[in-house]
Amino acid sequence: MSQVEQLLREIQAEVRNTRSMTGRVALGPRVFEAIATVPRHEFVPDTARDHAYCNRPLSIGDGQTISQPYIVALMTDLLDPEPGDIILEVGTGSGYQAAVLSRVVQKVYSIEVLESLSTRAQEILRRLGYDNVECDVGDGYHGWPAKAPFDGILVTAAAPSIPPALVDQLKPGGRLVIPVGEPHGHQELLVVTKDDAGTTAVTKALDVAFVPLTRAAPRG
Ligand code: SAH
Repeated sequence: MSQVEQLLREIQAEVRNTRSMTGRVALGPRVFEAIATVPRHEFVPDTARDHAYCNRPLSIGDGQTISQPYIVALMTDLLDPEPGDIILEVGTGSGYQAAVLSRVVQKVYSIEVLESLSTRAQEILRRLGYDNVECDVGDGYHGWPAKAPFDGILVTAAAPSIPPALVDQLKPGGRLVIPVGEPHGHQELLVVTKDDAGTTAVTKALDVAFVPLTRAAPRG
C-alpha cells in the first residue's frame, strides 16, 4: 500500500472513530478526492518531506504548523463545500489547506498574518497551478471585507472567541468552522451556521489543539 493510501485509511478510520462528536460518519466523496490528490509533500519544508504523509501536524517554520491531515479533511468536510462556493480561509500557513479547499469549491481567499509564510505559500500554489486561490497578508480576525460575503469561512488558528467580523461576512446559509479557546489550553472546534434569516447557531465538533490566532493592527 502506498503512503498516501495508508494515510487515507487512517483518516477514514479517525473520522469513523470521532463520529459521535462530529456527526460525520465518513468524508464526502469530493473532500476525500481532494485529500487523495493534493500533494502534501510539496507544502512541507524539505526536512519534513519523509513525514509528509504521516497523519500528524508538522512544523513549517516561524513557530507555525501545517495541520494534521485528518483535521484538514474534517474541517473541509464540516464546511459542506459546494462546487460554486466562495470560501475564506484565515491562516494560509503552508497553503496546503487552501489547496485542498480549491479542489472542492470555485474560489478560495486566504489571509495570513505572517508575510514570509504567505509569500512561500503563494509561490507553491502558483507553481502547482492552484490558480483559484487568492492570498493576502493581514489580520484575518477582521476577515477580508473587500471580498465578502462568503459561503464558508475556515479558520486554522485558535481564537479566544468567535470574531464578530467573520460571522458578519458569512452569507445566509453559510458556515464558519473555527477552533475557539485558550492559546495553549482547552480548545473546541466550532461550527457556526447562519440561516436564511441571518440567525446563527453554534455546534461543537471536537476538542482540538491549534496555534493561537494572533492579532495585528486593523487592516486599512
Ligand atoms: N492552514 C494552514 C495551517 C496554518 S497554522 C496550512 O494548511 O498549512 C495557522 C496559521 O495562522 C499560521 O500560519 C499563523 O501565522 C496564521 N495566523 C495566526 N493568526 C492569524 C491572524 N490573525 N490572521 C491571519 N493568519 C493568522
